[in-house]
Amino acid sequence: MKYKGRFGDYGGFYVPEVLIPALEELEEAFYRFHEDEGFVAELAQLFRDYAGRPSPLYHAKRFSEHVGFKVYLKREDLLHGGAHKVNNTLGQGLLARHMGKTRLIAETGAGQHGLATAMIGALFGMQTKIFMGVTDVERQSVNVHKMRLCGAEVIGVEGGTGTLKDAINDALRYWTAHVGDTFYLFGTAGGPHPYPVIVKHFQSCIGTEARRQCLDQIGRLPDMVVACVGGGSNAIGIFSGFMDDRDVRLVGVEAGGEGLSTGRHAATLVAGQVGILHGAKVYLLQDEHGQVCDTESISAGLDYPGVGPEHCWLKDTGRAEYAAADDEDVLDAFELLTRTEGILPALESSHALAYICSLKGKLGPEQVVVVNLSGRGDKDVSIVESHRPVQQ
Ligand SMILES: *Cc1c(COP(=O)(O)O)cnc(C)c1O
Repeated sequence: MKYKGRFGDYGGFYVPEVLIPALEELEEAFYRFHEDEGFVAELAQLFRDYAGRPSPLYHAKRFSEHVGFKVYLKREDLLHGGAHKVNNTLGQGLLARHMGKTRLIAETGAGQHGLATAMIGALFGMQTKIFMGVTDVERQSVNVHKMRLCGAEVIGVEGGTGTLKDAINDALRYWTAHVGDTFYLFGTAGGPHPYPVIVKHFQSCIGTEARRQCLDQIGRLPDMVVACVGGGSNAIGIFSGFMDDRDVRLVGVEAGGEGLSTGRHAATLVAGQVGILHGAKVYLLQDEHGQVCDTESISAGLDYPGVGPEHCWLKDTGRAEYAAADDEDVLDAFELLTRTEGILPALESSHALAYICSLKGKLGPEQVVVVNLSGRGDKDVSIVESHRPVQQ
């Protein structure tokens, strides 16, 4: 491998020997194409005409009045597919095509990355297999159906607890046997090198646009940028635009969930320890026997027991701060944005909004906070209804 893929001591590629040539081929292709004029132009056109970029930066005035400072939303919820995930699947899908691969595989938990990959498989006419734990297949039947409508094959993974971490293990195993024609389209800014670098690159459009929009619309940079963190792709995407602006505070918000005390939450950076997960050295949630925990959060998209290596490093260096939001505060934030702006945020994104709400009284009226609204909440309406039935 040409690069070590390290962020401080985090990251790297702790994978079976048989996978190294595939990762080397991927690294080589990424560095060959990512600044290639033809590749860049083709991706820019797809971002614009297929995904709907640039996404707007919206001053949420009524929401701002409630918290007492200026809140701007980066509207990734308006993209095709309803979330930021399409940035990454378009980028990696195009890379797969330039590498001459004919098949895509991907892991998925809640089904959102699986669906975003299935969309791109259809767009590029590539055979697509989605690995998904059997428990998740059952829980997320609507997304399974949508993936099949796009022509993808959904493979139910029986091992372990039938959730995301088992799906990733099986997808990696499958890849070792089919590296010749198959591209593994990884869903977040984690996994072995070069995935964290690749995913950040394709998500960095969020931060590049947001920074320019702040200067154009507000005439200055924000005081703070806030994003939710599952594996960390939407957060690293928006952080990347402000990394060198030392006065801009960067805050990532994880799922505290119900069980910070039982250990079944997903607050990896807030409460995890260092270990190896899915080929990288990162903070992760382990039990007392060193087994990776199953996480449990109201938002399936944040249910990942690890976090990308760059976030681990940003935490240790103090460049970014990390907090956890619990389910009740997340639901309050969901309701507040919906009632004040008529925008239904994804429950994942509502974690970032919950953190914003916790700042009430702590920031002045002229201070500016940008929130990455990573996705829309249509998929979460029945979950919200089951916790908070609407009173008429
Ligand atoms: C998948 C998802 C997330 C979590 O993934 P990251 O890689 O941490 O960004 C957050 N928000 C939405 C809407 C998602 O679909």
